[in-house]
Amino acid sequence: MSNCETIRDDLKAYVDGQLSLLRKSEVALHLARCAGCRREAEAMRRIGDQLRALDLEALDSELRARILERTAREAEEETEVLPGRRG
Ligand SMILES: [Zn+2]
Repeated sequence: MSNCETIRDDLKAYVDGQLSLLRKSEVALHLARCAGCRREAEAMRRIGDQLRALDLEALDSELRARILERTAREAEEETEVLPGRRG
């Protein structure tokens, strides 16, 4: 059976949603019974959320610029192609 040590090895993958369905259900089952690991999982999830939020913010402006640039370029390319199709 799963014990706290093996569960905590997988806890990060669990909160990241990277475990197999089987392993995930094992961890979930353990968390349902074990307050200690549950607290651990919640702490990890909170940290993960904060990191993700930071990453997204950092990515956001760069990504937005890149996406805007790309959409603008694609729009240009499309308008170049369209007149030919129209005829
Ligand atoms: Zn435990």
